[in-house]
Formats: sequence, structure tokens, C-alpha cells
Amino acid sequence: MRRIFVLLLLAPALVQTQGPAYDLVFRGGRIVDGTGSPWYRADIAIKGDTVIRIAPTIADPAARVINLDGLVVAPGFIDIHTHARRGIFEVPTADNYVRQGVTTLIEGPDGGSPIPLRPFLEKVAGTRITPNFASFVGQGSVRSAVMGEVDRKATPEEIERMRGLVREGMEDGALGLSSGLFYVPGTFTPTAEVVELAKVAGQMGGIYISHMRDEAKGVLDSVRETIAIGEQGGLPTQVTHHKVVGKKYWGRSVDTLRLVDEARARGVDATIDQYPYTASATSIGAALLPAWAQEGGRESTLKRLEDPATRTKIRAESAAIIRDERGGGDPKNVVVSSCQFDPSLAGKNLAEITQGRGLPVTIENAAETAMWIVEQGGAQGIFHAISEDDLQRILVHPATMIGSDGEVPIFGKNVPHPRSYGTFVRVLGVYVREKKLLTLEDAVRKMSAFPAQRLGLADRGVIRQGLKADLAVFDPARVRDTATFEKPHSYADGVSYVVVNGQVVFENGAMTAARPGRVLYGPSARHITN
Ligand SMILES: [Zn+2]
Repeated sequence: MRRIFVLLLLAPALVQTQGPAYDLVFRGGRIVDGTGSPWYRADIAIKGDTVIRIAPTIADPAARVINLDGLVVAPGFIDIHTHARRGIFEVPTADNYVRQGVTTLIEGPDGGSPIPLRPFLEKVAGTRITPNFASFVGQGSVRSAVMGEVDRKATPEEIERMRGLVREGMEDGALGLSSGLFYVPGTFTPTAEVVELAKVAGQMGGIYISHMRDEAKGVLDSVRETIAIGEQGGLPTQVTHHKVVGKKYWGRSVDTLRLVDEARARGVDATIDQYPYTASATSIGAALLPAWAQEGGRESTLKRLEDPATRTKIRAESAAIIRDERGGGDPKNVVVSSCQFDPSLAGKNLAEITQGRGLPVTIENAAETAMWIVEQGGAQGIFHAISEDDLQRILVHPATMIGSDGEVPIFGKNVPHPRSYGTFVRVLGVYVREKKLLTLEDAVRKMSAFPAQRLGLADRGVIRQGLKADLAVFDPARVRDTATFEKPHSYADGVSYVVVNGQVVFENGAMTAARPGRVLYGPSARHITN
């Protein structure tokens, strides 16, 4: 009697466990596994959030079977440099990224992150997002929190407090320390101070990743500094969105890459990431005004612009930046991407805006317009000042991975840099298929296993039994970017399926209702609740 009763109780459970062996099987795909090895044909079975079997043929019952007919299956792409907190709460599906096959977004680059990090990551964790999400802790934000935006050395006590904030950021789940030594207040930071903070991140298993102090005239010294911080800080170090800005300095990537090779040869773990465009994007003020003019924040900048003698000095330095550096030698090469005080400026270049203000288009007047934009409230800009030769030389370097430096745009709003919509598929379409600069396998490695290894995401980035099922399925003959500088709001083409944590989030040209993205925590994370 008692035995029968137990059996009856067990019956429903038995029925349940006898359901399909797998939740999802992809049949007949060409697997590019992320390691750089040549593709092979196999079926992939997923159960829950995990790839649990890879075999030439998987015929067991599955809740869902998708026939791929030779489409490529790659690990979901990991974007090591994003500004996704611009937009992730408004567009938690991050369509612009997911439609390219991106399944993990890394935030907090360029020295900028929320401080403290934990409440921010908890807010992301509490938002139903589609891709996975992780963050660095930013050196600039840490310095701002302790010292403000001042141009002076930190006292030993301040350095101790900053080290404490980096420690806290790592305990909150950061993947490492980012810096933006080009920006205020990063630019006021001596190398030795960054090293002291980098040591903390390194001891806690993190990396150092830097938007360097100077990507134009001083690009070689900046690469040396980035390498030195890794070497003295005792941690992996990465030159992020590597480029050479300004026609005068084009070609210097020969030497920057040699520096990286030499560092690696003597045992410094130095790497690079890059986006595949010849234009950069940041705020007009940060890019075109000298750093000293920005010290102390907006109010101080405005005061300096009010003083005629100081204004003349700022104009002269800004003109030099337009002539030789970010401005690409021509006011036409600076384009406003978004502007709060006058949204109609978005899409217009500095020559047009200068003309619109009734001034002849000269480099000096363009500098005057840049100062006027800052006074009016500022704007974001796009800067066409990178050479295709440098871009390609950096791209094919084995220590270079792909990162967009993008954000999550609101579809149709403003005229943002197309990198947010196109980075990963542009590499696959233009640099793999059309120009044949990279093999498909190597390009995928630069987007998956390589960044995963760099960030310590041991359970992602490679297609292997037992690892998380983040996958991008695409047609290598069709995959391409459609976003242009003129019309950036245009999604990737040629991606067929995207899977995050075992769930299909994109298929048949549309996002599904699934939002399985998780916050991924770094090597020293504590007190994680979700
Ligand atoms: Zn940057």
C-alpha cells in the first residue's frame, strides 16, 4: 500500500523528466567555435542555459529543432567596450547589438563608471535585459569622487581612498580598472597614480583597459604608458579602441604595434581592441577644447571662455586640434551626432554650423563655433580623422579584438556613430568577405574567445560542451552592416538566430519576447544576490 502511494507521488515527476532530452537542437550548422580553429560541421544540443552536446548527428528528441543548412554557428559576440548604460534602461533588448550577434555588453570603459558600482549592477540585474552585461570600474570616476576634477597630484591619503574605491568596485563585480587618460579628470593623473590603482585591480584578478592619454601626436608615448601601467601594476593591460588620430600622425600604427609586440615578447600581457571605422565619436568639448580649459567642470570652463585673453588662447589650441588632430584638418570632418540645446544641429558638420552662424568657414571660426557649442550646453560629435591603412594594420594584428565603443541608441533618434549598429557584422562583411583581410575563424575569435579569455569569462566565448549557450547564427555570404554615417539607424543584415543563455532572442528578422540577459560579475565579486 505504502509503496503504491510513493509510486503515485513519483509518477508526475517521472513523466516530467522523460520529456525531450534537449530544449533546442541546431542541426547542420558549420561551427566556428571561437578558438580560431577551422569550422566543422556538427549538431549542437542545448538544455537550459548550457550547450550540453556537440556531435556529428544529434537525433534524440528535442523540444525544438532548427535546421541550419550550412549557416555558421559562432559563440555570441562579447563587446569589450560599450557605453550601453546610455540606452539599456530605455531599450533593454539592445536590438542594435543583439541583431549583430552580440550577446554580452561590457560597460564602464574610458575611466567612467557608476561609483559605487553595486547599485547600478543591481539595477541592471533587476531590469529584464536581452544580452548579458558586465562592467569595469573607472579610474576617472574614482578620482572625481575623491578629488573632484582638479589638475593636481593626489596626496597619499587620497591615493589610499582611491585604492579603496577600486577595491570596492572589484568587490561589487567589476572586471578590472578602466581609464580615460585623454579625458578630464583622467588627463590630470600621473602614471604612477594609475599604477597604484591598477595594482589593486590586478591583485583582485582584474585587467587594466585604457582610452589612452593621446591618440594623435603622443600616441607612441601613450602606448608606452599603457604598457608600463600593465608592467608595473602587474596585470594584463589593453589599449582600447586603438587608432591614430590626425593625418599628420597616420602610419604610426606600425610603431604602436611594434611596441605591443616587444612588450608581449618580454612577458607583458598587452592587448588591443578596435572598431572598424575611420571616424571616432565623443563630446565636442572633450575632443576639441584643450584639457586645461576643462579643468574643474563646466562652470570653470565657461568662466575661462568669458575672459577674452583666455578665450583667444583656447581658440588657438582648438584650431590646432581641428587642423592636426581630431578635426581631421577640415571643419567638415566634425559632425554633430546629438545636441540637446538645438536638436536640429544633429547631422550637421562644423563648417555648416559655422556658416549658419554667419561666419566664413575657416579653421579659426570652426574653433569659435566649437567654443560656442560648449557654451550653449555642448553636443556629441563624430570626428573623421583616422586612416584606413592604420585601421587595417591594427585589425589584422593577432592581439587585436573587436569592441564597438557604441551605445544602445533609441531607434531613429539623433545621428549617432554607426558603430553601435554595425561594428561586428562590418568586420564579417567588409574585412572577412570583401577584403579577405581576416579569415572568418580569426574574426570570430576576435569577437568571442579572445575577449572572454581577457575578461576571465571562462564559461562563455567558445562553443564547447558544458559552456553557456550564447550563440550567433549567420550566413557568411550575406552578413553585413547597413548603418552608415548618414543613416546610422539601420540594423545588421544576414544574422539568422541569436541565443542568450540558451534562449532564442532573435529569429526571422525579429526580436523574440525572451530577455534572458544576466549581469556577469568579475573575479572578486562578493555578496551577489541574484
Ligand atoms: Zn574611449
